[in-house]
Amino acid sequence: MASSSGNGSDQRPVVTRFAPSPTGFLHIGNARTGLFSWLYARHYGGKALLRIEDTDKKRSTQEAIDVILDGLDWLGLEFDGDAVYQSQRADRHAEVAMKLLEAGHAYKCFASSEELAEMREQQKAAKQPMRYDGRWRDRDPSEAAEGAPFTVRIKTPEGGETVINDAVQGRVKVDNREIDDFILLRADGSPTYMLAVVVDDMDMGCTHIIRGDDHLNNAFRQIQVIRAMNGANGGQAIEDGWEEPTYAHVPLIHGNDGAKLSKRHGALGVRDYREMGILPETLFNYLLRLGWGHGDQEEFSRDEAIALFDIDAVNKGPSRFDMKKLLNMNGNYIRAADDARLAGMVAPLIGPDADKALLTQAMPVLKTRARDLNELAEGASFLFKTRPLDLTEKAAGLLDEDGRQLLAAIFERLQAETDWTIEALEANLNAYAQELELGLGKLAQPLRAALTGQTTSPGIFDVLVLLGREESLARINDQAGG
Ligand code: GLU
Repeated sequence: MASSSGNGSDQRPVVTRFAPSPTGFLHIGNARTGLFSWLYARHYGGKALLRIEDTDKKRSTQEAIDVILDGLDWLGLEFDGDAVYQSQRADRHAEVAMKLLEAGHAYKCFASSEELAEMREQQKAAKQPMRYDGRWRDRDPSEAAEGAPFTVRIKTPEGGETVINDAVQGRVKVDNREIDDFILLRADGSPTYMLAVVVDDMDMGCTHIIRGDDHLNNAFRQIQVIRAMNGANGGQAIEDGWEEPTYAHVPLIHGNDGAKLSKRHGALGVRDYREMGILPETLFNYLLRLGWGHGDQEEFSRDEAIALFDIDAVNKGPSRFDMKKLLNMNGNYIRAADDARLAGMVAPLIGPDADKALLTQAMPVLKTRARDLNELAEGASFLFKTRPLDLTEKAAGLLDEDGRQLLAAIFERLQAETDWTIEALEANLNAYAQELELGLGKLAQPLRAALTGQTTSPGIFDVLVLLGREESLARINDQAGG
């Protein structure tokens, strides 16, 4: 019995869903499938829904849920309507299982866990695949002991194959013998993940299931529930609205070494990248480009991404996460970002003394080299230091006797300077360097140490102008020898 799914002729308005499980963090791989689901819906003017798969009670704390919601919000992925919480739908999941049972597409299995363990042992010893052997499929429940606990299992097709026309993977199929009669309801009446996902997908009206390809095997099972409900696996439709969605299983993200992305490759959570000072638009764009492309264009605005995104340009092969590329891209986005906005993000990283107006004014200079917001904050911190400055060891090293003498002379000259602009200050100190037959760098070194307390900073004339005449002269004077 072969039939296919997702033949691309689905004419319904697009409804996608992103279905993260609260695990304590929003994995960037998951965030990427969330982004793809969201973009696909936005591209087709459909709905992007969010479902929190919070059935693992231990892990699904409010905190873990908030990590996901915050991460999505930060990335600017606003989903339509209220999020669906899977844990609140257990009754509906059970209802579907019972309907399948009544219609003969599912059956009660009274095998005890000991019995099933023994079955698996035997299969293992015989080097057979370990899967449920259907021992209760054709037995009458009356053969079980009175009141014995049972699970509800789906009757999967016995012959043929199940074919899925996946929008990313292409035509994929599995021999139906490989799909065992999996459990829908546990002995305690709780639904399994395999059932819950598919009931929710159908009740939410999802037309497109875009998710990681680690779920491809699940699709072959989930589709059996759909086909049993809509009559495609024989019999009558049990409920309306159980149309097969189009599946799109997106390859996972790998590290630079080609291995599946894991902790040892570095940060995995969206929040980690936020803390590293990555801008949300950078991560949005980076995740978009990781596995999807449009010619050789590297950067896309949100609107461009929405206009151009489609599943057929998603790569079939795994993509590699490249930290260096992400940081370079972040540098580009920082330079393109609005100065006041950057100041607002950087000020809290510097501390309570950081004056946003001054930061905004300094931003065009500061942002020319930073690759993340922490670097930006570090580069800006000199603006808000209080006198006399604490010098780094290296900076102090520059202010030896000679350095301090030189500073004293510079102080004299700058005190007499009436035009406190980059051009005038540059002309002034260049002339002095020539007079002393020194490179400008030799003058700039002790000056930088005195003005910033550090040995690296934006250009020295920018620093003088940003600090202003009075503060600059005072800082120079603090360190000058006389
Ligand atoms: N909750 C699953 C996960 O976080 C995704 C399920 C699905 O997309 O079908 O991996």
